[in-house]
Amino acid sequence: MKIESVCVFCGAQNAVPQAHLDVGTRLGKEIAKANKKLVYGGGDCGIMGAVANAVLDANGWVTGVFPRSLRRIEKEHQSLSEIHMVDTMHQRKQIMFDKSDVFVVLPGGFGTMDEMFEILTWKQVKLHDKPVVIFNHLGYWDHLIVLMENIISTGFARPETRELYTVVNTMEELLEVCQIREVVEA
Ligand code: AMP
Repeated sequence: MKIESVCVFCGAQNAVPQAHLDVGTRLGKEIAKANKKLVYGGGDCGIMGAVANAVLDANGWVTGVFPRSLRRIEKEHQSLSEIHMVDTMHQRKQIMFDKSDVFVVLPGGFGTMDEMFEILTWKQVKLHDKPVVIFNHLGYWDHLIVLMENIISTGFARPETRELYTVVNTMEELLEVCQIREVVEA
């Protein structure tokens, strides 16, 4: 399936290592360069803000989906190409799902994990078959991956569950899996 819209789940906190913010910026640039659209939660902070700003700076298209109630603790980005203001977190996740062809998980917190597991569990019960790619940048998700393996090896998830997601360790792999950059054979 051709990927046109890339959904990025990632952290909304600013006080995180610069290397993780930079990886958001790098991915945003590549998404815009490849003429793909970014779909994300619509916030202006943390890696979320970094990805969105990088796409916008490169004249790319960004769709944000932001719950009004979240304004108490986060702010929506003011200059997105398109923003959907919604009432609930569930509406946010549904619209992000509907508008996206692939889900990329960058470093993030509980919100990022919630979004990732919702998409994975929908896939587990065959509600969709869209790719989910976990970018284990600088080993950030190592412990999560070990936990997921433990869940599978203990029998709480079937071995086929491993096929629901792809773990990548480098930006090059990520860009290839998301059809953001084609691999050029030597
Ligand atoms: P975090 O990874 O905790 O920094 O959060 C990343 C984004 O996920 C933020 O915009 C959060 O508001 C959002 N988020 C947190 N919980 C949920 C949820 N239950 N459904 C949808 N988005 C959420």
